[in-house]
Amino acid sequence: MSLTNRILLAMLAGVLLGSVLNILLQGGVLPEGMRATLHSTLVAKNGVLDVVGRIFVSLLKLLVVPLVLVSLICGASSLGDSARMGPIAIKTMGLYLATTAIAVSMALLFASLVDPGAHVEVPGAANFHPVPPPPLADVLVDMVPSNPVRAMAEGKMLQIIVFALLVGYAIARSGEQGRRIGSFFRDMEAVIMKIVEILMEVAPYGVFALLAKLFATMGLGAILNLAAYFFTVLAVLLFHALVVYGLLLRGLSGLSPTMLFRKMRPVWAFAFSTASSGATLPVTLNTVERRLGVHNSVAGFSIPLGATINMDGTAIMQGVATVFIAQVYGVELSMVALLSVVVTATLASIGTAAVPGVGLITLSLVLQQAGLPVEGIALIIGVDRLLDMVRTAVNVTGDVTVSVIVAKSEQQLDEEVYQDPAPGEPGDPQAGSPPTI
Ligand code: ASP
Repeated sequence: MSLTNRILLAMLAGVLLGSVLNILLQGGVLPEGMRATLHSTLVAKNGVLDVVGRIFVSLLKLLVVPLVLVSLICGASSLGDSARMGPIAIKTMGLYLATTAIAVSMALLFASLVDPGAHVEVPGAANFHPVPPPPLADVLVDMVPSNPVRAMAEGKMLQIIVFALLVGYAIARSGEQGRRIGSFFRDMEAVIMKIVEILMEVAPYGVFALLAKLFATMGLGAILNLAAYFFTVLAVLLFHALVVYGLLLRGLSGLSPTMLFRKMRPVWAFAFSTASSGATLPVTLNTVERRLGVHNSVAGFSIPLGATINMDGTAIMQGVATVFIAQVYGVELSMVALLSVVVTATLASIGTAAVPGVGLITLSLVLQQAGLPVEGIALIIGVDRLLDMVRTAVNVTGDVTVSVIVAKSEQQLDEEVYQDPAPGEPGDPQAGSPPTI
């Protein structure tokens, strides 16, 4: 069976086992002793599913910093001397911002049509304690590392990106020494990519454990109470991922969206089960370079950057949540307020860290801007984890789509690899070598 199918099957098995456990662990179904044993050996902290899941996420995360650093240095050094770096950066940033603004606008429009908050009561005591988001100026200043080693130790992605771009650019302009050190980083990248492939082999177990534990502990009852909100977010997320990205890809680059979606399946499985664009990054980068044929000069820049700042799925959740909370609290949103939501949600999604649940924290920025009570976030917490999993999958799809579009427009896409249904599968003799342009 192909790796993709094994991962998808593991996802399904995890969801099924988790749902069965959820029923069994409810009081009254099993004798109390048995229920407690089942809970502590499998689901609870340090239970089997918890331990396997946590090890798997750590294995993914351990690759993120070295991979971002090395791959970005390689990308920047292969471009540093040419005039292409500017256009690639401008196109990538432009598309990231434009797609996010489209995503929020669509979310606001859909939500205004569906009225998800129409029949929801404000709970008496909302128990959400908002954390103030950092001022935007701080976010900007914070992009430049004063100590790159600390930036890496703390996993500060934007700082690592800035440092790696500088190193790559300098390598390209350092003549013979630059060539030597550049080839060291290229070798290093090949080795790290090999680790990604090795990890993919154990991914089915990790994905299974994460999903089984989550579905065993998650109360799906909350979805029923918030069905209108939940399904509105879900519908806009799916529409954006399949229709908007599909049309953009077809319209701007003439490439087949079906092929992209087909190769995205393992990435979606990782994004869905970890709910973290950051933890998914090694797999995203591997897929974009090895299976979609985007040259490292574009992928190495756009994918780590996108995982950090481009979050269309998060922006969609924030758009629908704003309309929902406004309706629940009976606040009419003016046109100006709606426009400010588009701007702040776009910025808030940039400031959202690529880890689970942060989109909900930066939502407070959007609500404050729109003059809505931040406590409204308490209303939607119950269903946020499941939506987080789906929106993370949309977030990474946006990064990949933009990367492919930019690569195609800059002649940095190997179309043979893109069109090949199964390149770069582990075991493929070509998998170890970077795509040739
Ligand atoms: N979990 C999301 C991600 O990593 C961020 C969020 O919306 O909370 O992409």
